[in-house]
Amino acid sequence: MSVLSTDRAPTPLISVVVPVYNEGNNLEALHARLESVAASMENAAWEYLFVNDGSTDHSLLTLQSLARKHQNVKVIDMSRNFGKELALTAGVAYSKGHAIVCIDADLQHPPEVITQLVAAWRKGAEVVVAVRRSTEQKAILRRLSSRVFNSISTRLSETKSVAGGTDFRLLDRRVRDALLLLGERRRLFRGLVDWLGFERAYIEFDAAERWQGRPTYSFSKLWDLAIDGILAHSSLPLRILLYLGVLITFASGISLVWMQVSYDLVSPRFLYTPLARAVVFNTLLNGIVLTALGILGLYVSRIHTEVLGRPLYTVRATLNLEQQPPTPPA
Ligand code: UDP
Ligand code: MG
Repeated sequence: MSVLSTDRAPTPLISVVVPVYNEGNNLEALHARLESVAASMENAAWEYLFVNDGSTDHSLLTLQSLARKHQNVKVIDMSRNFGKELALTAGVAYSKGHAIVCIDADLQHPPEVITQLVAAWRKGAEVVVAVRRSTEQKAILRRLSSRVFNSISTRLSETKSVAGGTDFRLLDRRVRDALLLLGERRRLFRGLVDWLGFERAYIEFDAAERWQGRPTYSFSKLWDLAIDGILAHSSLPLRILLYLGVLITFASGISLVWMQVSYDLVSPRFLYTPLARAVVFNTLLNGIVLTALGILGLYVSRIHTEVLGRPLYTVRATLNLEQQPPTPPA
């Protein structure tokens, strides 16, 4: 088998990674549906990696009882809530499969779609992204914010991503290995996967309603994520600032000359108008300097967190996983 071969193992192991934050009422249903998908597919072995991301409900208890009953249910218990992006990263780090499928615990990503993801992977794709066809009924603010988030990050970012693309995706083992070498802290999982490239395929699906419980991503978390996504994958904000700065300097230079000329030539009665304008200009410039400082500050604070060199996450305990926790990239 050559290095470039896309031949897939005849009986691949497929790892399903599920980030779990207060999903106690969804886990049994999710597991049952995953099992029926697994039963419907021949020639594949399955492992399920549930990452308990510091849940405060009975999620961990439910996972423990599932893990007792099923040897291929593996549990990674994070020492606190690290957020979905890092929970996914931890799950992917423990996965052993030839292919790794990331899926939400709330059944908004229908497990049945995994069949299509795996089929596309078997044909040679290395990243198979499930693309949302219709969004579920969300509150208007959330729907708007996720649309704004998606279009901003698609437009701004220098990497190729597709509108409606979700974290519901399949990664080939090679992509998983490459992904784990990226040690960024403030990460957007799907942004990093998109940055990696690799041979991709897209599968459309209809997002379902959340099964139980409320969405755990608040508006402000989504907003933070959007900003992180932009900062991590684009220097466009900095370039916009630069152009804006040049433009404003140029314009205010010309205006100043014009004010002087009109004052000298026309009449001193104009004194007040140019004075007022100068004041306005001054505030405008101040505003721009402050914006620039703010954006620079954001980039600097990112450097700061990266430089601290903390591990990405810490794990309290694992179930059904014999291996020692792999050290997260520092
Ligand atoms: N999640 C997590 N940690 C968090 C927040 C969410 O692991 O801090 C998980 C959550 O349990 C679910 C997935 O991430 O499996 C998506 O979360 P949610 O449904 O709240 O987000 P949305 O569907 O609104 O994007
Ligand atoms: Mg959800």
